[in-house]
Amino acid sequence: MSALPRPQPRPGVLAIDPYVPGKSAAPGVARAYKLSSNESPLGASPHALAAYRAAAAHLHDYPDGTAGELRAAIARAYGLDPNRIVCGAGSDDLLNLIARAYLGDQDEAIHTTHGFLVYPIATLGCGARPVVAPEKDFIADVDAILAAVSARTKIVFLANPNNPTGTYIAFDEVRRLHRALAPHVLFVIDAAYAEYVSRNDYEAGIELVATSDNVVMCRTFSKIHGLAALRLGWMYGPAHVIDAINRIRGPFNVSAPAIAAGVAAVADTAHVERSRVHNEQWLGWLTQEIRALGIDVTPSVGNFLLMHFPRAAGRTAAEADAFLARRGLIVRRLDAYKLPHALRMSVGSEEANRLAVAALAEFMGQKT
Ligand SMILES: *Cc1c(COP(=O)(O)O)cnc(C)c1O
Repeated sequence: MSALPRPQPRPGVLAIDPYVPGKSAAPGVARAYKLSSNESPLGASPHALAAYRAAAAHLHDYPDGTAGELRAAIARAYGLDPNRIVCGAGSDDLLNLIARAYLGDQDEAIHTTHGFLVYPIATLGCGARPVVAPEKDFIADVDAILAAVSARTKIVFLANPNNPTGTYIAFDEVRRLHRALAPHVLFVIDAAYAEYVSRNDYEAGIELVATSDNVVMCRTFSKIHGLAALRLGWMYGPAHVIDAINRIRGPFNVSAPAIAAGVAAVADTAHVERSRVHNEQWLGWLTQEIRALGIDVTPSVGNFLLMHFPRAAGRTAAEADAFLARRGLIVRRLDAYKLPHALRMSVGSEEANRLAVAALAEFMGQKT
């Protein structure tokens, strides 16, 4: 405590553990493979890159504050009403705006044990209280979420699929959760990895948003579209929620180069399909190969996988992380996600995937 009076952030802000992103470098290693942030190994669509470069000629002009062209492109691609879409500087921007618009002091927002860390950060930043609902086998548990609801609950955050577990719940379960929520509770479905999921019991949330008054769905261009550096996301929601978000968002929260690249990325369905196919092939291969080494892998439908390491000295997650880093393979430690014995690895290029499996084989085979 300082003796002198000084400006104080609102209660809750200093309770936030600062978000620590995945490492991006392996010091002293000639060639690094970043598998720590679920970025696309195929990169962005060449059309998106061309649109981004062309936007460089207009950097002196403010962007269209409504991101009209991008909302129209998204609406066309998904069959949505463009007036019920808001774009943001990444879905992080939108998740924070949702929290700011709907959470006040003493309100509660629910997320699951290993849920995406942005939810408690956004909640605490608004002076509200994050409430944690336990998962079952690293999967969101609808009954546990419902049991966590109180008179103060204003938001339920659900990442489907979830990061860092890679698991999802079927649309029936999503619907069951929604049906049991009071109509004043906002149900936020974060479908950042929706494009990677090929299960016929999965639905990203569009149908639920379209047919109810208290559901929003957030999407991102950071993952399958390979535009993480640009910061671009969007949300689809009921008109009254869209109106509230539009009132508090930054008037130019999405840059012109991001809008231009996003329009081109949405239209390049062939690039999205290539990325999806690459992921499906290598996610399956990695899961099988890594399990064969005696490392437990949680079944994932995303573009990453969760590896559970033995607790024995010489085989721990922390030691595996250091071992991989020395070989230029950068993966994600998950202590902040309450998974200290696990590592998350993104599906990379063929080269990175093969190197990762070879390094893990060496790690598990070495004498302790
Ligand atoms: C990566 C990710 C996002 C995307 O965040 P951006 O701000 O759009 O880059 C959102 N939610 C989850 C669960 C994620 O893993």
